[in-house]
Amino acid sequence: MSSTLHTTRPTPRAAFDVERIRADFPVLAQQVNGNPLIYLDNAATSQKPQRVIDAVTAFYTEYNSNVHRGLHTLSMRATDAYEKSRAIVARFIHAEHADEIVFTRGTTESINLVAHAFGRANLRPGDEVLITTMEHHSNIVPWQLVCEATGAALRVAPINDRGELPLDAFAELITDRTRIVAVTHVSNALGTINPIAKITELAHTRGAAVLVDGAQAAPHLPIDVRALDADFYAFSGHKVFGPTGIGVLYGKADRLRAMPPYQGGGEMIRSVTFAKTTYKGPPARFEAGTPNIAGAIGLGAAIDYVEAIGFDAIAAHERDLSAYAHERLSAVPRLRLIGTAEHKAGVFSFVIAGAHAHDVTTILDAQGVAVRGGHHCAQPVMDRFGVPATARASLAFYNTKADIDALLAAIAKVQQVFR
Ligand code: PMP
Repeated sequence: MSSTLHTTRPTPRAAFDVERIRADFPVLAQQVNGNPLIYLDNAATSQKPQRVIDAVTAFYTEYNSNVHRGLHTLSMRATDAYEKSRAIVARFIHAEHADEIVFTRGTTESINLVAHAFGRANLRPGDEVLITTMEHHSNIVPWQLVCEATGAALRVAPINDRGELPLDAFAELITDRTRIVAVTHVSNALGTINPIAKITELAHTRGAAVLVDGAQAAPHLPIDVRALDADFYAFSGHKVFGPTGIGVLYGKADRLRAMPPYQGGGEMIRSVTFAKTTYKGPPARFEAGTPNIAGAIGLGAAIDYVEAIGFDAIAAHERDLSAYAHERLSAVPRLRLIGTAEHKAGVFSFVIAGAHAHDVTTILDAQGVAVRGGHHCAQPVMDRFGVPATARASLAFYNTKADIDALLAAIAKVQQVFR
């Protein structure tokens, strides 16, 4: 079925032209509070190119129909498009088969699915789940819930003052009782890029599975789940320039086959009687009910769009931009950068002496600069650095040095107010 669908990776455009790219994103061309919008909240959600908006519109205007159940023309067209997106996702993260791709609502649901289904099948009292201090709440709370339900214990690996994960301390926490390690690829609060291939190697030598939270990695790095040797990899459509409400769980075929269903309902069964119900194999087993068809189609269009730009060009542009942002922010008096890892994505969390992050964010917004202020769903990270909250500027490939200059000018106003 889906694994036989063929998709071809788009050939990257010849040159990276940021102004041409910006023109693809209608939302960027607007004024906010009387100033041009400077959108630097990409870690929360990224903007959508016209091509994604068009793909979603085309679904609703031309072939809206349910998938996998109708034998009429529209339903077959919807099913083809939905399954084609699955194949595009598989290609995007270098999965072996499209059947290893489960569509979910997003990273949060993907992690809950594994915590619930893998946890129910594998966790016994005394077993251990290992996470890290830098996890998003969505990679903490599901494990707390499943540990409570099964009697397993949650272990937490420490991070250092730069926001990095020291691997020696991490390795010591993997024991013969560790059943699963759940770790973020890129931290949303610190920007740290974790050495996932080394982590999976360490975990696998002790027989533990590894779930990678790729929510902040997928928009910035080429993902190769086989090179990383991840057992599970989760990401959200809306952070990779696709629609909200759609996400991905990759699982190695044998891992998915060994897991019981997460939710029950239509489409995930082979047969139902009151005496006994049998289930389909993955990925259908984990996609109960009518899925987010338009979302999946939009996600496929977003991935095609990103790959047409190419990760070499994206990485080079973001590296340049990040170096510039780091240099300029480091020079601002009374500004402390939280998260200064050697390997970092374009995420800049900072605090300004005497100013609460919410006030910083509000003053920036008045100047058209959108950043996020708060704990970023990573309260343990805030505790680790002894701050209640940070302001966070996060980059995407459509940002420019002029955006960074506007951020710095807006920060200068904050400093005037909180002199
Ligand atoms: N993990 C990380 C690292 C994130 O940044 C986010 C979103 N902020 C999530 C998980 C949760 O993603 P979603 O809300 O799309 O499910």
